[in-house]
Order: sequence, then structure tokens, then C-alpha cells
Amino acid sequence: MSGPGGGTAPSEVSAPDWPRRAAPAAPTSAELDARVTECRACPRLVEWREKVAREKRAAFRDWEYWGRPVPGLGPPDARLLVVGLAPAAHGGNRTGRIFTGDRSGDVLFAAMHAVGLANQPIAVHRDDGLRLIGTRITAPVKCAPPENKPTPAERDTCRPWLDAEIELLRPTLRAVLVLGGFGWQALLPVLADHGWTIPRPRPRFGHGAHVELASVRPASTVHLFGSYHVSQQNTFTGRLTPAMLEEVLAAAARAAGLSVNSHPV
Ligand code: SF4
Repeated sequence: MSGPGGGTAPSEVSAPDWPRRAAPAAPTSAELDARVTECRACPRLVEWREKVAREKRAAFRDWEYWGRPVPGLGPPDARLLVVGLAPAAHGGNRTGRIFTGDRSGDVLFAAMHAVGLANQPIAVHRDDGLRLIGTRITAPVKCAPPENKPTPAERDTCRPWLDAEIELLRPTLRAVLVLGGFGWQALLPVLADHGWTIPRPRPRFGHGAHVELASVRPASTVHLFGSYHVSQQNTFTGRLTPAMLEEVLAAAARAAGLSVNSHPV
């Protein structure tokens, strides 16, 4: 294995166990993110993300699509982690930054800015100046899947990247906001494996769900929140409104010890 972004052999990064071998060895979030972008462990997703990047959507034909895994975004000492599902084919898979360049991201970043978790409400490309405040955003599956539906096997293959991300964030992590049931189901076993106690029966996903999870070694508490996903299906139908999203973001931010705008901007 070579260093991050160092041109690791294609046979290595295409092996199903590449995430399991590469992720735990990354000493920093920056190096983890660099390693993620090399990954080719899921043949179906690699084929799809690259096909979308070649064929493009007509509106974006002048773009050079990213067409690779999309790493997490935000400071390495974040207190709040927002967990989605996977990058969008013409959003993150085009721009190379999570939730950037699609309608879901428009809704999410506008709400984060209103609450005080982002320096601007707009996210259009990787060099647009967006900065997250005390918050990191990630996804349990780092490549765009067909129809936004990764398989359980793809979720499990990708899991070591999320495992390593949680471990690196652990010293500062105080709250997690999960967008949607897929992320909720993917994240609970990860938190359990990292020492947080998951109540029995398992907490059910729902918008506004909130449960405190304790860990003994090392002693820490994480507040887990649920929100409907910022998908167009939810936001266009009014199932998830900007006010609902701002409310749950603010609650998660307060639980994480972050300061929150008292009056949304
Ligand atoms: S989904 Fe995850 S494990 Fe699969 S190729 Fe993408 S980054 Fe690698």
C-alpha cells in the first residue's frame, strides 16, 4: 500500500477488503478522506459512478464529473456529525463534495446556515468557500448508487470508512443527526461496535427521534437524533419543511454544545 492519493495499485483498491485494510491505518481525517477517494471495492458502484460521469446530464455537459467516492466534509474535530445515505449521481458524484450541487444539498446547507452551522447557505462546487462550523457531514456509502439504493453488501463493504471516521472524531463527538432510515440502520451497529450502548429494543427511526447513548470506555455520551432525509421526495411534498429541518439541526447542535442562531437568518 502506498500513501494517500499516492497511486495505490488498482488491484489493491479494487479488492473487497481494501476499505478494511486501508481505513484503520489512516491517522488523520485528511488522510482517511484521501484514501476513500481511491476506493474501487464495489464493482457495481464503480461502474455506475463512472458511467454517470462519462454520460453526464445535459445541463452539466461542460462539467468534468468527479466520478469517484465522495469523502466526508467538515472539520476533523467536529462535535456534531450529520449522516446521510450516499452521494447523488449528478450532485456529489459530479462536484466531488457531499450534498454539493443538488436540491437535497440546497435544502440542507440553507438550514445549516440558518442555524449557524455553515458560513453560507449555498453549495455549488468544491471551491465555493463553504465552511462547516463544528459539524461534519458523511454518508455510510461513499459512491453514488443506482436509484439511490445501495445493497446491504455495498453498505457493509463501505463500513470501515465510516468506522474509521467515527473513531477519528470520537474525542470531540457529542451528537449525531441521521438523515433517513437507511443511515439510522447503518449507524446503530457502528456506534455499538465503538462502545456506545444501544437500548433494547433498538431505538426506532423517526423525524425528531432522540436518544442518549452512553459509552463506558472511554466514558462519553452521544446524543443521537433522527430527521427525515432531505431528498426531493420529502422536501417537494412538504414531508420535511425547512422549519422542521432547522429545528432538529438546532436541537442536535445544542446537544453537541455548539452555539445556535436564536433567530434563523
Ligand atoms: S461504496 Fe465505499 S467501499 Fe464501495 S467502492 Fe465506494 S468507497 Fe469503496
